[in-house]
Amino acid sequence: MSANPARFAAIQAANYYRVPATLPYKDNHTPSVYGSAVFNEKVMQARLPKAVFKSLKKTIDSGSSLDPSMADVVALALKDWALEHGATHYAHLFQPLTGITAEKHDSFLEPDGKGGAIAEFNGKQLIQGEPDASSFPSGGIRATFEARGYTAWDVTSPCYLIETANGVTLCIPTAFVSWTGEVLDVKTPVLRSMRTLDEQARRILKLFGHNDISMITATAGPEQEYFLIDRNFYLARPDLISAGRTLFGARPPKGQEFEDQYFGTIPDRVLAYMHEVEAELYKLGVPVKTRHNEVAPSQYEIAPIYENANVAADHQQLTMTTLKKVARKYGMECLLHEKPFAGVNGSGKHLNWSLGNSTQGNLLEPGHTPHENLQFLVFCAAVVRAVHKHSGLLRAMVASASNDHRLGANEAPPAIISIFLGDQLADVFEQLKKGKAKTSKKSGTMNLGVDTLPIIPKDAGDRNRTSPFAFTGNKFEYRAVASNQSISAPLAALNTIMTESLDYIATKLEKSKGKLEDNIADVLTEIAREHSAVIFNGNGYSQEWHDEAAKRGLPNLKTTVDALPVLTAKTTVGAYEKYGILTKRELEARKEIAYEQYCKTVNVEANLVVELVKTKYLPAALRYQTELAQNAAALKSAGISGESPILEKVTSLIRGLTSALSKLEEGRSHHASGLVAEAEHYCRVVLPQMLEVRKAVDALEADIADDLWPMPTYEEMLFISK
Ligand code: ADP
Ligand code: MG
Repeated sequence: MSANPARFAAIQAANYYRVPATLPYKDNHTPSVYGSAVFNEKVMQARLPKAVFKSLKKTIDSGSSLDPSMADVVALALKDWALEHGATHYAHLFQPLTGITAEKHDSFLEPDGKGGAIAEFNGKQLIQGEPDASSFPSGGIRATFEARGYTAWDVTSPCYLIETANGVTLCIPTAFVSWTGEVLDVKTPVLRSMRTLDEQARRILKLFGHNDISMITATAGPEQEYFLIDRNFYLARPDLISAGRTLFGARPPKGQEFEDQYFGTIPDRVLAYMHEVEAELYKLGVPVKTRHNEVAPSQYEIAPIYENANVAADHQQLTMTTLKKVARKYGMECLLHEKPFAGVNGSGKHLNWSLGNSTQGNLLEPGHTPHENLQFLVFCAAVVRAVHKHSGLLRAMVASASNDHRLGANEAPPAIISIFLGDQLADVFEQLKKGKAKTSKKSGTMNLGVDTLPIIPKDAGDRNRTSPFAFTGNKFEYRAVASNQSISAPLAALNTIMTESLDYIATKLEKSKGKLEDNIADVLTEIAREHSAVIFNGNGYSQEWHDEAAKRGLPNLKTTVDALPVLTAKTTVGAYEKYGILTKRELEARKEIAYEQYCKTVNVEANLVVELVKTKYLPAALRYQTELAQNAAALKSAGISGESPILEKVTSLIRGLTSALSKLEEGRSHHASGLVAEAEHYCRVVLPQMLEVRKAVDALEADIADDLWPMPTYEEMLFISK
């Protein structure tokens, strides 16, 4: 245990922490709590006139246009419901281009002119809000004096109540656009791409004879990884507070090498916390389902049942907020950074994605004999084509300064985007290259050799943890998504490139004469031949794959700076403009904001590195050096001669540190002209300089007396936090 007073106090506090028993869980059975804070279909049906309910439901289910004349009626019902639940305010929620959730709050109260006040809320206030847009990044779309921005009610994502100790707020999900109509948020492209995906999927289904079907929606089920660290440690680490990750820290003697954490027993405090997170999310109608320990010490995961992708994206934001909020109640901090600790696993978000509807089911369900399931093969081939054509875009969509520390490291998907199909489907695609597919490899069953254990069916393909984009039975799992990122932009990208592929296939098939089955076989063969290069079932971490991928012409965009140009590449603009998802100008704006965010992030980190070295690490090292020098002098005067190898080593490490520091100080004060050059400079010069400083500090950590070490160590943060 540490002898440094600050660290000692933190360790003591962590040790004496007791979980508050806060949930009346015995009385609150999940089914009655679930959705209790949501203005959901059930509530709407009970409270709205029949015709209004029907019309609203039609808009939600089939994407038909919203009848504005209903707004006043809905607003009234919504207000009554919210007031009955104690609400005093309503808030329009939107996701500006930084991807965080922004909220504009207003009170229901209006003066009645007689000295009193009444609760007011009408259709106009429901449909449209007007937050000052000038402080949100627009990527040059709008000058700050043209500050007007509008939020527009997203009727497809339900309104809900957020309760605090002192009051209740009605939250209304909205889209966010500028006065000139340009899109300023990440939700609008999702909504638009859901529509175009539906249109194109229908064309394909029509060819298969399915005419009268309900709307095809993209579905999403995002798995979220996170760390939980005792807040006493967190508050003693300015780097965690301001950068979300540790910028220093030597590897602990024990890391994750025993792999004893993955799916291990969940510590009591954490499990109590998870119960409260889930209870909160159930109230909000977020269908969280699974939880477990992850690979790294103090790392965990939560995953929901999949939903309509737009709703899933809103629910994912709520999940992140709830994870963070509840952690504080339990004396912990929830870290959503992609790589809070060097040398142990980072966190990602696995975005499970598919498409389907209630009548047709999941369109990516292969069945037992996928080679015969032409409809499935068409949709699957469309994905293969889309991902091959736009693999750079899928990399760019998850690019950020923080995700760069995770992608391409040996525990996360590589920066090369490829598809894992599993043995069975990869074999079908091999057959397709030569013509029609004739067989499907059998999946079979597994006999465990113990009579009391059931015989279990085996999946047709094993899992592959190294693939950034994996087929997992009846959906694709986009595993490169960043853990602190909104899933909206990656989702919109998937929907858009899938729209383009389905359009391509539908157009070909509609034009072809002859038997549909033969025409389909031709298209499938063509796609298998031209796009199979993106299929890879092997180990994505290996050097052989990097070499092979280069031969196959797959882009390997190692950093954000390498990836961002794809946001405005011809292929990207072509697809986004063709389907009306975003214009070139809007894409350019998004790219500019991404560059800005990148520069700001690295700049803050560089400043932190300099500050922490000057005010914490260097003083500690100098004190120790002085102690050693005094010790050497004392020994000498006592007549014990000899060298002091420790003093020499510490002196040389200090020299190394100050020299690395002055290089970094020089590096961070250099300013390149233009945003792209600036980002390049941060990426290629400043980040490596920061790493050199870190190396020197981490080396000192191993040699300096523990009572002088100023910050909680990796060992303390990762292993005492439970
Ligand atoms: P696995 O264990 O193979 O990852 P799970 O069934 O546990 O599979 O699902 C993992 C995640 O995938 C869950 O969040 C789940 O909701 C999501 N998921 C399952 N089916 C679909 C689907 N059709 N569309 C989108 N997401 C899905
Ligand atoms: Mg998974």
